[in-house]
Amino acid sequence: MNKYPVFEKFLSLQGEGFNAGMPAWFVRLAGCNVGCDFCDEKKAWTTALAKECTLEEIFCDIANSKVKNLIVTGGEPTLYDLSLLTSFAHNEGIKCFLETSGVNLITGQWDWICLSPKQKLLPLQSSLQQANELKVVVETKEDLSFAETMAKQVSDNCKLFLQAQWTAKEKALKIIQDHIFQNPQWHLSTQTHKYLSIK
Ligand code: SF4
Repeated sequence: MNKYPVFEKFLSLQGEGFNAGMPAWFVRLAGCNVGCDFCDEKKAWTTALAKECTLEEIFCDIANSKVKNLIVTGGEPTLYDLSLLTSFAHNEGIKCFLETSGVNLITGQWDWICLSPKQKLLPLQSSLQQANELKVVVETKEDLSFAETMAKQVSDNCKLFLQAQWTAKEKALKIIQDHIFQNPQWHLSTQTHKYLSIK
């Protein structure tokens, strides 16, 4: 596969999770087979607004940039075979970071995989095992049970993050803080890009 449905591409800072603050090119692929109620990228659920881009089109300005980090997000990017995309990137000296819910087989070679599992459609075991970072969105106390169930299935060195559901963040942050104080293997992931109103 050497064409991908690109919803948008932009240069920004990673706002959340383990790599927060890192400059990166974001490529948001269109299409998602999960459909979360709280999704803030619903326009990327289908390919209607996406442009089919060749690898050369995707990488034309990335290759000339000093920023050599590529975050592939969605939608759900694992709908597509990403092998050629990551090998093209690595040949250009670009590191590849994946953001996925883990519901489909992960293809390609990744320098970092951030798995954000969703209760609506559970991640594959293989995805959990490959994750470098587990990031669970929390709105209620029940979400913490889900987070702990997921944490039992990732590898020992996987980083653990809890992130407040943005529209309920005041209540959720209190729930997360209480849980982290009792379970300090978890850290808080903050959506700094939303606080700073950057993309
Ligand atoms: Fe949105 Fe991600 Fe859920 Fe898909 S998996 S609906 S892109 S939050």
